[in-house]
Amino acid sequence: MSEKTKSWVTGFARIGEQRELKRALESFWRGDISFKEVIEVSDMLKTRHWKYQKEAGVDFVSVNDFSLYDQTLDMIEILGLVPDRFKDIADKQRRYFAMARGDANHTAMEMTKWFNTNYHYIVPELASGMGFKVDISKIVSEYTAAKREGVDAKINIIGPLTFLANARRVDGSNEDAMGLYDEIMPAYESLFELIGRLDEKIVVQVEEPVLVTDRAVELSLLVKDAYDRLCAASSNIDIYVITYFDHASEAVPQLAKTPIKGVGLDFVYAQVESEVLDVIAQNGKELVAGIIDGRNIWISDIEKKVGLLNDIAATIPKERIIVSTSCSLLHVPYRLDYEKKLDPQIKEWLAFGIEKLDELSLVTKLFSKGPGALDSEEALKFARNREANESRKNSILIHDQSVQNRMKEISKLKKRRPPFEERIVLQHEKFKYPPLCTTTIGSFPQTPEVRSVRRDFKNGKIDKVEYIGKMKEFIKECVEFQESVGLEVLVHGEFERNDMVEYFGEQLKGVAFSENGWVQSYGSRCVKPPIIYGDVSRPQPMTLFWSEFAQSLTQKPMKGMLTGPVTILNWSFVRDDQQRDQTCFQIALSIRDEVDDLQKAGIKMIQVDEAAFKEGYPLRKEKRPAYEKFALESFWIATNVAENDTQIHTHMCYSDFNDIIETIEAMDADVISIETARSGNTLLKIFKEHGYKKEIGPGVYDIHSPRIPSVEEIEKQIYSLLEVLPARQLWINPDCGLKTRRWEEVKQSLENMVKAAKKVRASL
Ligand code: GLN
Ligand code: ZN
Repeated sequence: MSEKTKSWVTGFARIGEQRELKRALESFWRGDISFKEVIEVSDMLKTRHWKYQKEAGVDFVSVNDFSLYDQTLDMIEILGLVPDRFKDIADKQRRYFAMARGDANHTAMEMTKWFNTNYHYIVPELASGMGFKVDISKIVSEYTAAKREGVDAKINIIGPLTFLANARRVDGSNEDAMGLYDEIMPAYESLFELIGRLDEKIVVQVEEPVLVTDRAVELSLLVKDAYDRLCAASSNIDIYVITYFDHASEAVPQLAKTPIKGVGLDFVYAQVESEVLDVIAQNGKELVAGIIDGRNIWISDIEKKVGLLNDIAATIPKERIIVSTSCSLLHVPYRLDYEKKLDPQIKEWLAFGIEKLDELSLVTKLFSKGPGALDSEEALKFARNREANESRKNSILIHDQSVQNRMKEISKLKKRRPPFEERIVLQHEKFKYPPLCTTTIGSFPQTPEVRSVRRDFKNGKIDKVEYIGKMKEFIKECVEFQESVGLEVLVHGEFERNDMVEYFGEQLKGVAFSENGWVQSYGSRCVKPPIIYGDVSRPQPMTLFWSEFAQSLTQKPMKGMLTGPVTILNWSFVRDDQQRDQTCFQIALSIRDEVDDLQKAGIKMIQVDEAAFKEGYPLRKEKRPAYEKFALESFWIATNVAENDTQIHTHMCYSDFNDIIETIEAMDADVISIETARSGNTLLKIFKEHGYKKEIGPGVYDIHSPRIPSVEEIEKQIYSLLEVLPARQLWINPDCGLKTRRWEEVKQSLENMVKAAKKVRASL
C-alpha cells in the first residue's frame, strides 16, 4: 500500500481577508494603537491561516511567510544585515518600520518589484565588511506557535542567491551585491545551524526565484557551492529549494548534485523540460510540483492537473512527488465568500486563495488514490469543477460574437502610422506650440473633496446631474489654473478617476470587479485588480464627455487622456482561456475607438499612458520577443487610427530604457513623457545615442516628493537636458501625474516650471 501523496503550499497571504493587518499597522503608525495590539492581530491572522490550510489537509504549511511589512526586510533582520544608517535607532520595532517607510531622520530603504509581480520588496543595502548577527527569534516564535496549533510547519527562507541578487551594494564597489557572496554565506550557514537546533527534524523551504531569471546562467556555479554549504550547516534539516515564475533548467542539474531533499518547480508559468525531470529522478530528489496557479484567479481544470501529475510520474516515482501551488498565495485574494455582487456565473469560474486550497487537496487525492477514493462531497466538487470549466468554454458572458468578428480583421490593424517626419510637420502647423512646450502628465490633486464627490455618487447620495455639475467645477478650476500659470498644453485633471486602470475597466464589457479581492502590493498597501473574464469591448465612449467639456473651456490644446492596452492588461487578472495577446488586442480595439471618437470631436492631442509597459516584460530573454511583438502591436492598434495631424502622446513612469529603446522607438508615439527627475539625464542619453527623432518630455521634477523645486533648479535641469537633445525635440513637464500632491505644492511647482521653461526658451 503506497503512502498518500503529500501537498504543499508555498506561502500564504498575510494582510488578512478583511485587511486586518493593514488596519492595525496604519492605526499603529498613526499612534492610535500600541505595538502589542498589532502583534495580537498578527497572531490571530497566523493562527487563522494555519487553520485554513490544516482543514484543507495541506501537509506542508509554512511559518515565516508572515511578515509585518515584507519578508525580504525580515531576512535583513534575521541575518542581522541592518544598514549602518539605521543603527542609531535602538528600538527594534521603530527601526524595522524606519527601514521600510523612513522617519523624520531616515530616508526609507528602496523598494522594488518582486520579479514580475506587482508585489514590492525592500532592497537590502549591503557593504563589504558590514558583519552580521543572526537573530532567529521571529522564526522560533512562529515555529513554536504553529506547533501549539498542531501544525508541524516548514520554515520559509529567502535563499542566499535571491537575497544577494535583489540587494544593492552601497560600499562604492563596481561589483554588484553578488560579489559579497563569500561574506554573506556564513550568515546563512549560521542561520541554518540555529534552525537545526529547533527540533529533531525540520523542513526548510528555501526560495530561489532568481534561478528562473536569465541570471541563472551566471549563477549556476554558485548554486552547488551554496547548497552544499547550507546542507552541511545542519544535519537534521530537509532542504527544499523552491523556484517559481518560470523554468529553472540551468540550476536544477547543479542543485541535484547537492544533498538537498527536493526541488520545487513551477508547472504553470514554465515549460518544464523532460531532461530536468530526468535529473531530479536520477539523483533521487523529491519534486515539489507547482501546479495550482498561485498568481491568477481562475479555477483549475482538475482533470488536466491530475493528468499533468501522471505525466510527471512517468519520470519521477510517485512517492517522490509533492503537489503544490505554483508560488505563494500572496499574489491572489483570500476568498470568494465576500463577493456578493459578482455575477454568480463568473464567480463559479474563480478560485481565490481558500478555493485554491480546496483544489490542491482534491487534485492531490485524485492523483494519489484515484476517483474511487473521493468521498461524496469531494466527488461533487470534482463534478462541479468539470461543469464550470465546460460552461467557461461556451458562455455568452465570455464569448462575444461581435468582438470575435472584429478580431478576424485585426491583422490589418497591426501596423505603424505613416512616417513621423510627415506627421510632425502637420502637427506643428496645427498646434503651433513652441520648443520646450510645457504640459503635465494628466492628473491634478485628488483632494478629499474630489474623492467625496465620487464616493457620494457611487453610494447614491447625489444624483448624476449633481455629480456632473461638481466634476465640471473641478475641471473648470483646473483649466483656469493651467491658463493662469501659462501652461501651453492643458489637461482636464482626471477628477472622475480613482485609478487609471479601474476607471476604464469599469466601463469595458468583459471586465468585472471584486468587492474584496485585495492583493498586497507593499507594506499595508493593497490593490484590487480588475478581472478580465471575457471578450472585451467598449459599449460607449469612456472619456469623451469630460474631454470635450474641458476643451470647450480653452483655446489651448486639451490632451485627451487614456490608459493603454498593455497597462490595462498588466494590472489585471487576465483570463487564461485564450492567449494573453488576444485579450490585449481586444482592449486595444476599445482604446482605438476612444481615440477615434476624441479626434472626431476635435481633441487632437491624445495621451495613451503605458505606465506598466516595461513591468510586463517576461523574466526570460527567450520570451521577450513575443511580448514585445504583441505589446507593440496592441499600442499600434490603439493609436494608428489617429490622423496625421492628431498627435499621440504616451507616458511611462520610468526611464531605464537601455535594453528596450528600440521597442520604445517602434511604439511610434509622437511625444513620450518619462521619468528622469530622479535618475538624471544620463539615462536620457540612450535616446540620443539611438538617434531617437521623436519628441520627449523628460520629467523635470519629482512629483513623489512634497518638495517644491525652485525656478533655478528646474532651469538647470532643462539646460542639462539641452546638452543631450535639441529644444525642438523637448517638452517640459513633471515626471508623473499630480494626483497625490496638494494644490499648494502643485501651484508653486508648476509656476516655477513654466517660468523656468520660458526663461530658457528666451535665452535660446
Ligand atoms: N495620466 C496619469 C496621471 O497623470 C498617469 C499615471 C501614471 O503614469 N501612473 O495620473
Ligand atoms: Zn507616471
